[in-house]
Amino acid sequence: MYKELVIRNVVIIALSLILFFFLSLFVVNFVNRRNLESQLQNLSSVISNSLQKTNSEREIMDVVNSYTKDQQWLNVVIATSLGDIIIDSSVDTLTETGVLPRLEQFEMEKLGVPGNGGTVYVNNGRIFYIERLNDDVIFRTSIAMEDSTNYMLLGMFILMVVLMAVLLISIWMTGKTSSRVTDAFDNIYSHLRLIANGENKKISENHRYGEVALAYSQINAVNDSIFQYIKRISAERDKLNHIIENINEGIVIIGVSGNIYTINRHACSIFGVDGTVKDQPYEQVITDPKFAKRISDEITTKSDIRFDYVDARTANVYLVSLNYFKNKQDIDEEDLISIVLYDVTTLRREERIKADFIANASHELKTPITSISGFSELLLSGLVPLPDNIVEYVANIHSESVRMKNTVEDLLYLSKLDYSEEISAEAEVDLADLAASCVKNYRKAAREKGVELKTAGQSAVVKGDYSLLSHMLGNLLDNAVKYSARGGTVTVETGVGAEGKKFIKVSDTGCGIQPQHVAKLFDRFYRVDNSRNRDTGGTGLGLTIAQRICVLHGAKISVESTFGEGTAFTVEFEKAT
Ligand code: ADP
Repeated sequence: MYKELVIRNVVIIALSLILFFFLSLFVVNFVNRRNLESQLQNLSSVISNSLQKTNSEREIMDVVNSYTKDQQWLNVVIATSLGDIIIDSSVDTLTETGVLPRLEQFEMEKLGVPGNGGTVYVNNGRIFYIERLNDDVIFRTSIAMEDSTNYMLLGMFILMVVLMAVLLISIWMTGKTSSRVTDAFDNIYSHLRLIANGENKKISENHRYGEVALAYSQINAVNDSIFQYIKRISAERDKLNHIIENINEGIVIIGVSGNIYTINRHACSIFGVDGTVKDQPYEQVITDPKFAKRISDEITTKSDIRFDYVDARTANVYLVSLNYFKNKQDIDEEDLISIVLYDVTTLRREERIKADFIANASHELKTPITSISGFSELLLSGLVPLPDNIVEYVANIHSESVRMKNTVEDLLYLSKLDYSEEISAEAEVDLADLAASCVKNYRKAAREKGVELKTAGQSAVVKGDYSLLSHMLGNLLDNAVKYSARGGTVTVETGVGAEGKKFIKVSDTGCGIQPQHVAKLFDRFYRVDNSRNRDTGGTGLGLTIAQRICVLHGAKISVESTFGEGTAFTVEFEKAT
């Protein structure tokens, strides 16, 4: 650009100088000729006046000599009106023939009457003046133009030298200006490169040219807005990263090339890795072959899928959601696959429990229904002699229907508790009073079984639902009496424990429970010995209900048992209640 600017300027200046030179040449030439013409005209009119006064050829000769003797550059010719030369002040090529040339004869023909002045014309580098002295005589003067042209050329040469100097100065100045402009462009270019490389750098807005200073300030404004925009985007990205990092689900984002793009803290702990696996191939993190295969399938099929992944290390179950993101923007970013892992261990366990529960409930209800329908069919078939055995069969029908009713009642009660998040009727309940009241209800049953029922301990007030707590204690007492042999003792003890926790404890001297059953006692429909316990009329839901009531009260139920010696259930309330 610099070169072009200089060349253009030089060409323009050179052309201007050439034009100026020829224009000046023409003007000087023109002015010079005009001067010579008027000079010749004035001189000619003086000579003409002198000639008018002459009477002889001799006198004419003297006049001519007097004007041309010291002024060799002047030529005076006297000729007849036909063009024949009479006197010639110098031997002139034009007049060698003794006759005026054709051109002059032509000019002569244009002359008017004597005394009306003459005419001026140029021929062969000379200026001529021709005038009619009288009807027969023509008077002509002439001077050469060469001398003045030479002067003029000298002047022109000097002018040219001056103009050349001007031209050189002009080239130097143009170069200087051009280099300033190109320097400014270089500066702008290198600054824009810095911005493109992500550097937030300001350009100095000072420059001798206002336009360049304005361009600099515009670049700074653009730089500011770009970096403001980048700042906003960075803040948004940080927010997003913060959310991804702290979300409760595991998130892994993989590029279609197979490298890990992002992995959050939760995902790191699921896969037992740290954040350094970023940018590594996903196989280094997801080692489960089935899981890895699903990812490679996702890369090729691009269809979103969901599946359960069981982590062998933690035994947790994760619902995995694989999604394919196609980069729809026209930018150089690869397509991504997002993996979101939801911990569904509890959900899956609950689902299994529910399924077990339904299977067990169906089984529990099916047994008495089978008995009822069997005995009633037997009665109707007439195979059983009536009325001898009728009492026994009806008694069976009755006991099975009671068991079924109890099971259904317990199921309904439990399902109500399952849907409760918290207790509805909270009041202050003295556990000692509660124990006394419940013991009273079971006294008759205990007496019939020959079991001694007693209370012990001290008052312990907790906050809770009296009716629920009474149901819970009833279930524990019912079991204690049921699984105690004649002569046994059941004790309900209340009080405040070592850590200040209020408790209620039901202990018996009954059959006790073998250790392998203890952990499952609170499971729905779990019974230690199904055939034996069926005779006791239990539903297998009593302890489940008791435990659920404890949970609603923020209490903890625990069991201690020695097989063949007895069992003790303790409900401990948290200090706050
Ligand atoms: P059930 O209605 O069969 O008693 P529970 O849920 O109340 O059902 O009890 C579950 C099982 O725990 C019982 O079947 C029984 O085998 C055992 N069990 C509960 N309480 C006692 C106890 N005090 N002594 C011995 N075994 C008990």
